[in-house]
This record gives sequence, C-alpha cells and structure tokens, in this order.
Amino acid sequence: MKYPDTALFINGQWQQAQSGETISVANPATGEAIGVVAKASVADLDLALAAAGRAFETWRATSPLVRSNIMRRAADRLRQQAEQTATILTMEQGKPFSEAMAETLSAADIIDWFAEEARRSYGRVIPARADGIYQLVVKEPVGPVAAFTPWNFPLNQVVRKVSAAIAAGCSIIVKGPEETPASPAALIACFAEAGLPDGVINLVYGSPAEISSYLIPHPVIRKVSFTGSVAVGKQLAAMAGQHMKRATMELGGHGPALVFDDADLPSAVDRLVFSKFRNAGQVCVAPTRFLVQEGVYDAFVEEFATRAAALKLGSGLDSETKMGPLINDRRVKAVESLVSDAVAKGAGVATGGRRVGNVGSFYEPTVLTGLTTEMSVMQEEPFGPLALMIPFRDLDEAVAEANRLPYGLAAYAWTGSARTSTLLGQRIESGMLTINHLGLALPETPFGGVKDSGYGSEGGVEAMEAYLNVKFVSQAAG
Ligand code: NAD
Repeated sequence: MKYPDTALFINGQWQQAQSGETISVANPATGEAIGVVAKASVADLDLALAAAGRAFETWRATSPLVRSNIMRRAADRLRQQAEQTATILTMEQGKPFSEAMAETLSAADIIDWFAEEARRSYGRVIPARADGIYQLVVKEPVGPVAAFTPWNFPLNQVVRKVSAAIAAGCSIIVKGPEETPASPAALIACFAEAGLPDGVINLVYGSPAEISSYLIPHPVIRKVSFTGSVAVGKQLAAMAGQHMKRATMELGGHGPALVFDDADLPSAVDRLVFSKFRNAGQVCVAPTRFLVQEGVYDAFVEEFATRAAALKLGSGLDSETKMGPLINDRRVKAVESLVSDAVAKGAGVATGGRRVGNVGSFYEPTVLTGLTTEMSVMQEEPFGPLALMIPFRDLDEAVAEANRLPYGLAAYAWTGSARTSTLLGQRIESGMLTINHLGLALPETPFGGVKDSGYGSEGGVEAMEAYLNVKFVSQAAG
C-alpha cells in the first residue's frame, strides 16, 4: 500500500498550504522519507479560525441527536476502513500493526461513546426560595477549540479531543502531529464523509510553536487542549491563562508500578512487560519505576528481563514483531543519554541498553537495576523502552518513592492484600491507579493527571464537562 501525502483540512476542503510548503514524513522503521504533509502558515490558520468561528454558530444550534447520528456514522466508516488506517498508522509511527489496529478500533468506540454522551449534557433545576421561580443550570458549548496532539497515539489523541468537543457542540482546530499526519487525516475524513458540516473540524500541521502562539491568544478560540511534554504544557497553560482560555493539559508521567510480596507474580510480570514495551515505551501512562518488594525482587527482575529480552523487534508491518522502532533518532539519542548517565553513575543493565542496527530508530527493551536518585532517568520521563527496577521494604517506603516525583499520571500495583489496595488507593498521588490488572483508558472512565502531569480529563463524563460552560438562568413568572 502506498503511503498518502497529507493536506490541510479547512472549512470542509482538503487543501495545500497557501505557501505551498511541506514537511517531510519518515518511516521510523527504515528512516526513509515516505511522504509529505502540508505546512500551514498564518494565512491558513486565519482561514481555519474563520471557518471554526462560523461553524460554531450553526453546530451549537444543531440538535444533540443530529450531532450524535453524524458521529456514529463516522465511527462506522472508521471501522469499515480500519485495516487501511491502521496500516498507514504503522507506516508512519512504527508500532506493530496489531497495536495500530487496536488503536483504530478503540477510536471508533470513543466516537460512539461521546456520540451517546452528546445526548446527555444535562443541566439541573434548583428549587427556588420563592414561589413562581425556576432556577435553571444549563450547559453550553464553550466555543471553538484549539487542540494540539502528539505522535505516539496519532488517532487516539485526536479522537478523544475531537469527539468530546463536537459532541458538546464546539467546533475545533486540531494541530496534528507532523511526524504521523496521515492516520489522523484518515480519521477526520470519516467525519467529513459522515456529513459533518464544513468548518466544525479543521486539521492543520506546521511549526508547533508558531501555531500554538497564534491560535491560543486568538479571540475566536475559547478553549485549549494539549497532550505532550510537561515543559511544553507549562508554556501553553501559561499562554492560555494569560488570555483567560479554559485548558486541558495531558502531560507526561513517570509511572510507578508497585509489586508486593503477596502479589500474583506471573500476572504482574505478564501485564507489566506488555504495558512497559507497548508502543516501544512511548506512552504517557507507561509504567517506568518498578518498585518491587524485597521478597520477590530477584524473581521479578529475572523473569521480567527474560521476557523483555525475548521481544522480537522489527517493522510493525511484520506480523512477528512485538516492538517497533522509536519515533525518530532524537528519541533514540534521548534514551541513549539516559542509559549512559545511569550506567556511569553505577546502574546495572539486566538486559538491553543498546541501539539496534543502523537502519531505523530501534532501541532494545532495557531493564536497569542499582538505581539512585542522582541518575537523570530517575527524574525524567524516559518515553522509551526503559524499565527501572527498585527494591523496597514496606508500604511506606514504596509510597514515598512512588510520590517522590512531581509527576502524577498513572500508577499500577499488584498485591493480594485488600488492606494494601485500600491504602494505596488513598495514598498514591496520581490521576489514575489500577490494581491487579491493566484497567486504564476506556472511553467511559476519566483519563488525566495531577501535579505536573496536568489537569482535566480526556475520558468519562469529565471529558465532556471540559467543553461545556455552566450558565445559571433564574426566571420569574413575572
Ligand atoms: P517535544 O516536547 O518536542 O514535543 C512533544 C509534543 O508537543 C509534540 O507533539 C510536539 O509537536 C508538541 N509541541 C512541542 N512544542 C510545542 C509548542 N510550542 N506548541 C504546541 N505543541 C508543541 O518532544 P518530542 O521529542 O516530540 O517528544 C518527547 C517528549 O514529549 C517526551 O519526553 C514526552 O514527555 C512528551 N510526549 C508526551 C506525550 C503524551 O502522551 N503525554 C506524547 C508525545 C510526547
């Protein structure tokens, strides 16, 4: 299958940038250029802003039932073309085709869920203090949205923002990921083919900083949603604050996974190996610090490292592949530098620790031991296939280490004790905690962080609230 070039989608039309400029797109499994994406300038952004502003006026007045029906048709189209979309996703992003397929089908589920939720943006009636008065709380769409999405889940990151926004009655301009532009474009095409009015969704690509610094302060935009690193999130949140725009920030993590002596060890190893190396570790909710109680530490590390070493690396289009490449050379260098810093400061390498070959951006699944807090990898999100093994004595020590960092996105625990589970639920500082299984990221459940990992939610009813204003109307009989 030929990889498609990607145009901008503005006011219902696929179009080249007015400047004619493009950005090259590479296949991370080979390093080869496979296509281009149009690079928007301010002139294109002005068209997108005008379209989103106009479309908002009609879309907000479109009944939730009509919105919901269009969204459901888009989900069906995405399912019909899932194999093609997943193939494009793997070509540009590198993840195994099975993961790309799961992401595509889950994107369709997310659209369906928000389509249903569109019909349930309920307000409420507050009993009045006097007769003849209705006190109404109504929900209204916040307005045109500017969304910024990254390359690690090219579909998932776009679909969560787009679905919640348009279900609520907002229009949206998405700045998609320049590294992986074609699969988000295939997703947006489904909405257009399903009959979404022109201008309700607009998709642009370009220089991220140029686009965010133009869109966020722009008076048409009323809400900002960003997924990416903590550093960039803080900049964009500051800009949103300066211009009094509502914001959702989905930022990085450094997930602790706590494994207690009384855990079901085979289950813990099985699920955590999968969760760590999925998408080559380029997952904001990936477990990174494996805090393992002393009684099972050696057995856990040995089994985990054996399983990690056995993962077959390769092109995501090869059905045998269990882990694909990192997104680009920049990420390989970042991971290399974290590992060499740790090893120089005394860390042990239980498996991995090297780049693989010189074609594409592959890095071995890596397990490090003997870690100390002086090592950068114990502070910074590795966003790659690195697992850090850290022994602990008791619950207090494990919780202290889990909460040590400014991140607070996802946390994991394995234990056979109801008491330990309860205490972890109360004491772990994270937006999400899953105990004895992997239970995150369903459309109907909240998805978001605390502390430096950001604020707001991209799942569950909380995600809809982020795109709705509350209005109070008090009405007397007269
Ligand atoms: P990066 O910080 O350059 O970019 C991360 C994302 O933010 C990209 O999608 C990029 O286009 C966007 N971005 C960067 N500057 C921006 C700006 N000024 N305005 C708007 N968008 C901007 O880093 P990278 O090398 O591409 O990715 C590595 C780091 O990014 C990781 O360490 C990880 O923390 C973070 N990241 C997080 C997620 C996530 O799901 N939370 C996803 C991808 C990347």
